[in-house]
Amino acid sequence: MANTGKIGVTTENIFPVIKQFLYSDHEIFLRELVANAVDATQKMKALGLSGDYKGELGELKVGVVLDEAAKTLKIIDNGIGMTSEEVDKYINQIAFSSAGEFLEKYKDQLQSIIGHFGLGFYSAFMVSKTVTIETLSWKDGAKAVKWSCDGSPEYSMEECDKADRGTVITLYLDDDATEFAAKSKIQQLLDKYCKFMPVPVVFGKQQEWKDGKYVDKDEDNVINSIEPLWTKAPSELKDEDYDKFYKALYPMDEDPMFHIHLNVDYPFTLTGILYFPKIKERMAISRNKIQLYCNQMFVTDHVDNIVPDFLTLLHGVIDSPDIPLNVSRSYLQSDSNVKKISTYITKKVADRLEEIFKEQRSQLEEKWDNLKLFIEYGMLSDEKFCDRALKFALLKNTDGKFFSIDEYKTAIEPLQTDKDKKVVVLYSTDAESQYQYVEAAKNKGYDVLLLDCELDSHFVNLLEQKMENVRFARVDSDSVENLIPTEDKIKPEMSDEDTKALESMFKAVLPQGNDYMVQPDNLGEDKAPVLITQSEFMRRYREMSALNGGMNFYGELPMAYNIIVNMENPLVKKIWDAHKADEAPAEEFAKGSDLLRQLCDLALLGNGMLKGKALSDFIARSADVMKDAYLK
Ligand code: ADP
Repeated sequence: MANTGKIGVTTENIFPVIKQFLYSDHEIFLRELVANAVDATQKMKALGLSGDYKGELGELKVGVVLDEAAKTLKIIDNGIGMTSEEVDKYINQIAFSSAGEFLEKYKDQLQSIIGHFGLGFYSAFMVSKTVTIETLSWKDGAKAVKWSCDGSPEYSMEECDKADRGTVITLYLDDDATEFAAKSKIQQLLDKYCKFMPVPVVFGKQQEWKDGKYVDKDEDNVINSIEPLWTKAPSELKDEDYDKFYKALYPMDEDPMFHIHLNVDYPFTLTGILYFPKIKERMAISRNKIQLYCNQMFVTDHVDNIVPDFLTLLHGVIDSPDIPLNVSRSYLQSDSNVKKISTYITKKVADRLEEIFKEQRSQLEEKWDNLKLFIEYGMLSDEKFCDRALKFALLKNTDGKFFSIDEYKTAIEPLQTDKDKKVVVLYSTDAESQYQYVEAAKNKGYDVLLLDCELDSHFVNLLEQKMENVRFARVDSDSVENLIPTEDKIKPEMSDEDTKALESMFKAVLPQGNDYMVQPDNLGEDKAPVLITQSEFMRRYREMSALNGGMNFYGELPMAYNIIVNMENPLVKKIWDAHKADEAPAEEFAKGSDLLRQLCDLALLGNGMLKGKALSDFIARSADVMKDAYLK
């Protein structure tokens, strides 16, 4: 006789509430039901192994059967099954009452935590008008039971004639959930949530193309791989295995650069494989490529509260039963296990990079351009990682040669220490446009680093803090003679009046709208007559405020340049003498001096600052100069 009763829920209308709350995520029902079925088969296996069960185990597996026409979905297992007492206890009492408590407790945060935590069996009601359970327990003498519930808190329970051990859950899909009555949809969900579950999950038969259509073959369509790579011992695996697994996870991506196999069981359990993808630009980085599993059950691909921010750039899989899933995201960050896990992963990543640095240095160099952004970002955002990375981070010079940070300091120390005993690191942000400065520095025997990545202006500041007694200077921030001053230089002796006159002359012919600091200097007879540089300090602030997405105080100032005038250069001397001999005020004299214009334009040209009309005037003037020089 059918037995009816009321499920132990306090709120009468709990179903509509749940449905509404879970609307966006209701596809997780399938994961929950398949996970229960997997659990039941694993428990069966354990009973067989322990000897508590002596009968035939059979081939333990889970089946998912869709009837598109009838709009029913069955989840079938040959696991332990349930006796009628167990159905009463686990389904009628526990499942439903705990769902009620759960709702009460987490009402406010439900939306944010639901991705992590399913409601177990109960979630079947998110997509069904009626759910039935037919189950036969493994226990001797157990009778099969059929439980049925139409979504109201009333259920019915009766004996049935199910002959084989295990459970069949049947969902009669709701009218507003018919999307789940499509084979492709179920296949997609199984791929997403069940791909690595530890028991074979069968969804129909494999198919082949025959006589112009797909037909079923005899073999089952097993949708999962029950021993995914991360569950195996690293010693059994080759690089190819890791690459193959990566391809299975991200079929569209280029091969990864390196992998890290995570495996720890104390003080928490965690396994997984992380990959360094190739990254070239910050824009092209895709986050949320790490998948989080709990005992091979997919949980989420949002791990941003579990691993440090910079590690979300990695790809791969983490599997841990110790990450609390039934809590809100903000709680997650303060959880002590999560903190330990995050620290552990950071340490492992640093260990692996250090190992590559020590044992496969040439590979690290080869792949550096793709790794650099990741490592610099890590160093800038994570203090602990930074301290580790100072050992293995590489610096590349403009000739493409690599150094560790320590190696570099040692290499440049003899020639590049200034009068204040600071080692001066010269760098270029664009070897092409700063070519003449890079060449000038190299000719003096200096080394020039190439720091052309978007994070480099921040990185330079970081290195200045971390490296002792070191100062960074962009190679075009001063004349090569002044970049690394080794003694206090003797500046040209000029009266205030002359200095002012020199300043007026240059300001009269240089492009308007910028600020110029005109500085007479003695750079030597054979050195350039005029140099245009930008103060290291001002330029860095400008770049950093631009990188941070806005212009602050420094960004709003006009561009400021230093105009270094080499008073020892014969051409400058000639102009200066001519000015001295001229009655006209400095400004007027300047406007009439083609030679002065020519020198200024050449300096501008060298900095890529000569454009438009000024550039075409310069070309015309140069032609005249050549005529004078060669045709007279
Ligand atoms: P949870 O799985 O989190 O315990 P559920 O609501 O999903 O919560 O399930 C409640 C209980 O019902 C399970 O712990 C299990 O004992 C039992 N159960 C559910 N599905 C099955 C199944 N397919 N076979 C055997 N027992 C099951």
